[in-house]
Amino acid sequence: MKASLLKRLLSLSMGLIVVGSASACTAIIVGKKASVTGHVLVGHNYDSSGMFVRHAFLPRRGDKPAMFWSQIKKPAGGEKVAHFFYNEYGVAVGSNNGGVMNEWDGATFELPDEGHYSTLTDGGIGYELRIRAVETAHTARECVENMAKLVDTYGYSENARNFFVADCDEAWVFMALKGRRYVARRVPDDAVVAYPNCLIFSHLEPGDIASRNIREKGPNFDLIAYYQGPRTWKSIYNCYRWQNMYRLGAGVELTMGEVYPFSVKPAHLVSVQDIKNGLCSHYEGRPEEVKERHPKKSPKTITPICRANTLEALVCILAPNSADSVFHMTVGRPCEEAYGVYQPFAGVLPPDVALGAKALDRLVNHRLPPTSRVRVAFYAGYGVRSNGCAEWIRLLTASPEVDLTFVDAESVCAGALRKCDMLVVPGGDSRTVRKALGDQGAECIRQFVRAGGGYLGTCAGCCLAMDAATEPERGIGLIPYRRLGSKDVAMMPMRITDSGATALGLPATTRPVRYSHGPVLVPIAEDADKDRHFDVWGTYAGDLDDPGKSFAMRGNVAMVGGTFGKGRVFAIALHPESFVCTRDIVRAAMSYVAGRPVTFPVRERASRALSVGYFTPVMAGITTAQALAQLDVEPSIDLFPIAADEIRFNMLDHLDVLVLPDGVAAWYARQKTLLTPHLADFVARGGKVYGWGEGARHLPAQGVSCRNFGEVLQSLLK
Ligand SMILES: [Zn+2]
Repeated sequence: MKASLLKRLLSLSMGLIVVGSASACTAIIVGKKASVTGHVLVGHNYDSSGMFVRHAFLPRRGDKPAMFWSQIKKPAGGEKVAHFFYNEYGVAVGSNNGGVMNEWDGATFELPDEGHYSTLTDGGIGYELRIRAVETAHTARECVENMAKLVDTYGYSENARNFFVADCDEAWVFMALKGRRYVARRVPDDAVVAYPNCLIFSHLEPGDIASRNIREKGPNFDLIAYYQGPRTWKSIYNCYRWQNMYRLGAGVELTMGEVYPFSVKPAHLVSVQDIKNGLCSHYEGRPEEVKERHPKKSPKTITPICRANTLEALVCILAPNSADSVFHMTVGRPCEEAYGVYQPFAGVLPPDVALGAKALDRLVNHRLPPTSRVRVAFYAGYGVRSNGCAEWIRLLTASPEVDLTFVDAESVCAGALRKCDMLVVPGGDSRTVRKALGDQGAECIRQFVRAGGGYLGTCAGCCLAMDAATEPERGIGLIPYRRLGSKDVAMMPMRITDSGATALGLPATTRPVRYSHGPVLVPIAEDADKDRHFDVWGTYAGDLDDPGKSFAMRGNVAMVGGTFGKGRVFAIALHPESFVCTRDIVRAAMSYVAGRPVTFPVRERASRALSVGYFTPVMAGITTAQALAQLDVEPSIDLFPIAADEIRFNMLDHLDVLVLPDGVAAWYARQKTLLTPHLADFVARGGKVYGWGEGARHLPAQGVSCRNFGEVLQSLLK
């Protein structure tokens, strides 16, 4: 890659990486001759507070392979360093925090005989190490060699990190240490390696790949003693996770307090279930059992493998062909959530058999009389945000049972709802939506629902449904609730109540659902409106570390459903539309409100679809919604809504085209320093940029200026 871009990415990421972060993680790697399936297996818990996980598929771009990306995002944008990637050649990479290094405590990175922190080139490489290494690697070994080269060239800018790098044949652990230091070791085929958050082997062995400064110290050099000391690996924070992961994952008991081996020969062949048993453990039945299963983190308490802040559990079964590899994943703690099974590269059909979106829709639709389709009005007007909308639009346009129209405050007031069966209001800012609607718009929606129309609101859409008397700035009076506000983004566990389970046809379980600044619903004391009949369908089953918040979320209301007059209403404070694993909640809610089944089939894409990014920093009304929907239904287009984070973290690398729309002048102005340099690199790599209106004014020199969106779409379909 070009040094200039790397330099820019580095300078961006330097400000974002929290040194000595609270992230934990536990990993286990099983050699192919040690597993029941005969595959290399990798298990990993990703632990970190105040983050959420997003799964993305990055399409092939030039010489860069397609990649499955488990992305850890910060609420306010930005990233954590523990992302997991799996490329289409079958190479997987992820990591654990490697613990604090000795020199860190001394407030200096200098060691008398070694490279110095200040000798890092361009600030060193940190977050980008794994992406740069995996995006050209055909094998795990090649990925490790790429990492070695990158650390040799730039120096590692973080404290210490243990990467697992695996393909179908072999797995490696790459320990990167601050400065130009690294050691990588292959996992023996008949062995199991498990590790928590510390350096995990001390002396070099033949076959290790190590940086020169470590090689030169010779075979007797104890790198753990020199760089870290026993305090970190002996801490109860690490020891019990280490010991129990080997016990549950490999059937091997280790004595507490000894130096742990790099690998063990398992007592039996290791199964996927053995790994899952390890990942969800709180040491049940053992003296060290953590009784309060997910205590707040403290260095003085024993840390379970499944922790308060476990965001994702992942088990990879790595097959020779990446299309056959299977990932079992939870989005949340593995002791509370079922695993979803993913085959990230299994979905692409050869071009001659690919049906395309419209063919699939036709196949389903031709059996449905037109009147049985649910006429859905989606509020895309002032006050809603693009990120939530894009997911909603994708779902609704894919549903064969849905006839979709977009509405805003003006069209609602003009009677647009009369031709619809239900209204969907997505996330955003409820005060802005309420203000835009005015009293007239609010009354139109109330009349619509009272007469039998449906209402479904998520997050801001939920707030908009609230009681009008107690929430005059936000509510239109559909549900007898007011709100308490909290500001954070997280995967929040939500308990589905018995009445919710019955009404929605879902199991009465607790599951993580994406939360983003949503309300805590509080029932109003006396509901004078006899038209409203609601039940609590979901409650928060966890809480947030929000210092500005003086109330507990746990046990309070997160989801309600019932009737207002003749119409059905569903309101949820969270974002079930955000992730595949919670879309069954959306499907059940849509079906409840519509009074008939609504489905969201996965849409087929042409195997050589054009990757199109659509710049949507804010929702610019119905026009934007329509543009997203029009692009999304084209089988020859793979659509990616692009905001600041996606630009900052290389999403443009994977696009063929970027569309800069009209109508977001203020945002363009704010992001000019980010957008302009990335656009220049994008064009230099052969990317095409189209724009119209305000977007055309920000085109790079080779960009294509269009008169309107229609012209852009025509060009893309040529
Ligand atoms: Zn747990």
